[in-house]
Formats: sequence, C-alpha cells, structure tokens
Amino acid sequence: MNDDCIFCKIAAGIIPSATVYEDDDFRAILDIAPAHKGHTIILPKKHAANLFELDADSAAKVFPVAKKVAAAVKKATGCDGVNILQNNGTAAGQTVFHLHVHVIPRFEGDGILPVWPQGAYADGEAATLAEAIRKEL
Ligand code: 5GP
Ligand code: ZN
Repeated sequence: MNDDCIFCKIAAGIIPSATVYEDDDFRAILDIAPAHKGHTIILPKKHAANLFELDADSAAKVFPVAKKVAAAVKKATGCDGVNILQNNGTAAGQTVFHLHVHVIPRFEGDGILPVWPQGAYADGEAATLAEAIRKEL
C-alpha cells in the first residue's frame, strides 16, 4: 500500500466508501462526483499508478470485474448503456494516480461525454503505424 495514496486507503477499507463490490483483489465504489448517479470506479487493492504499471495478473482480472459491475449498474440504474473508461496520464484526464476503471451509466441523448474527432490516414500510413506498434509489442 502507498501511504500517500487515497485510493490505496479506500481500497483497503481504511477510508470508508460506498462499496458496491469487493473481492481479494478489487474494491468497486461509487464515484464521489458521478457523471450520472451509479457511476462506479473499480480500484485494485494493489497500488499501480496506471495501466503501464499494472501487473499482468491484475490486468487479466479487472475486466471480468468490470463486466460484473457494469451489469449490476445497468440493472440498478435502468441506464441505456455503459461506458468503461480508464484514464492514463494527465493528458488523458487522469486525476488520481492509482489505476481505476470507470463504469459510467449512460442514457440516450445525455451527451455527457465528448465524441472524439473522426481522423483519417493518408495512403499507407495506417500500415506503417500498425507495423511500428507491432514492433513494440
Ligand atoms: P480520473 O480522472 O483520475 O480518471 O478519475 C478520478 C475519479 O475519482 C473522479 O471521477 C473523481 O470524482 C473520483 N474521486 C476522487 N477522489 C475520490 C474519493 O475520495 N472518493 C471517491 N469515491 N471518488 C473519488
Ligand atoms: Zn494507491
């Protein structure tokens, strides 16, 4: 546990939270400033600042938790859809540097999240970039 990390303390139960799910590895809690009521964040109990630091075992376990929590949020809130969102780095909107996965209930036409621009690739550019990424794997 990182003593300076609020999400470590919440995940460990040292700071109380509105917990909706807990197992040996994760705690899922209601976000304190929800995009919609029912907005839930899933916190690993083991500290990792972001996806790049997350160990492979936690990475493998987190999506099944997201699936379970998303289904429960959908039933409990009656939302029409759900976004699974996970921010890494300030450029991506991360504000708390303990990895967490957002489960955000969505309602038709709510317009609460921006739609990203529809970019385009020049001829051959996508293949070159795909190759550059493949090389880094
Ligand atoms: P990020 O922007 O880093 O992806 O998301 C951080 C989220 O954590 C925000 O949605 C924010 O409202 C939520 N948050 C920050 N501090 C607390 C807290 O002490 N308790 C809870 N439940 N949520 C928090
Ligand atoms: Zn932490």
